[in-house]
Amino acid sequence: MPEDSGNKLTMVTCSAPVNIAVIKYWGKRDEELILPINSSLSVTLHQDQLKTTTTVACSRSFQEDCIWLNGKEEDITQPRLQSCLREIRRLARKRRSDGEADVDAAGLSHKVHICSVNNFPTAAGLASSAAGYACLVYTLSRVMGVEGELSVVSRQGSGSACRSMYGGFVQWIMGQQGDGKDSLAQQVEPETHWPELRVLVLVVSSERKPVGSTSGMQTSVETSSLLKVAYTFDAGPNAVIYTLQQNVEEFVQVVKHLFPPEINGGQFLKGLPVAPTTLSEELKQAIGMEPMVKGISYIISTKAGPGPRVVEDPSEHLLGSDGLPKESA
Ligand code: ADP
Repeated sequence: MPEDSGNKLTMVTCSAPVNIAVIKYWGKRDEELILPINSSLSVTLHQDQLKTTTTVACSRSFQEDCIWLNGKEEDITQPRLQSCLREIRRLARKRRSDGEADVDAAGLSHKVHICSVNNFPTAAGLASSAAGYACLVYTLSRVMGVEGELSVVSRQGSGSACRSMYGGFVQWIMGQQGDGKDSLAQQVEPETHWPELRVLVLVVSSERKPVGSTSGMQTSVETSSLLKVAYTFDAGPNAVIYTLQQNVEEFVQVVKHLFPPEINGGQFLKGLPVAPTTLSEELKQAIGMEPMVKGISYIISTKAGPGPRVVEDPSEHLLGSDGLPKESA
């Protein structure tokens, strides 16, 4: 646990990744504990492109627990935030009473100030809740000196947040117990396991397409010349493409051909660089669609990445020495 400074402010900043499932979690058997009806498997995306950063400070001088998200104060009494705070405090108390940690009273009886920012759109179907709750739980655990299996705690903030506690390829084991203690995430393989894997997040600006998934999938299987790439949608309209490095240039060129950046505007490609290429007439004909305005605003090009980490540089704290958000946070 970090030392209290002279003004008795303890502060830790961490960052955590987004994850996108390839075997989805499709519903809950227990809404309160967030226990799923099936196990799931995801890829943790690299924090160089998509991440949440959270600072937690605690001090005797704080009157209440507070949270600021993307610069705006939010309601700390939200049940899921409360579940995470309560669980981490319970684990900290347990460690202290078991004599496992020299947790001083600061982490337990003092109030916390939490400040968090996502470097990507929040609540837009890009799994901000997964990165957000993973980051919250990871940072709180560092402040309060809690170690060990914490995915069961972040799961109670947002189900998929349990998988953002690990890098690489991660499974969420649904578990059997009523108390949810065996419903947790485990790393299946680290991010280095499949170096050629690339992930393209197609950020959509317009409404959902009118083609239902079942018939869309059937049509893809029957007609797509791009079926080497797999696709997945999270809760929202944004498509996430998993493909191999060798296919990225051609795939991105197809997207640029269909949604020309010059008429769709903005910085079309973000993240890992992708060199331009030319499409064969054969492929253009196989696609059989005319270029269109709107549909995809931009692409985030990324890959599998590591789990949460402590941000060591104190200049990156989102809270100032007064415990309030810095201007830029
Ligand atoms: P998404 O698809 O982005 O996960 P959701 O609607 O499922 O969208 O979840 C968004 C909610 O997750 C937010 O309204 C907020 O309650 C929570 N959330 C998002 N980012 C953070 C964060 N950085 N810290 C804490 N909570 C967050």
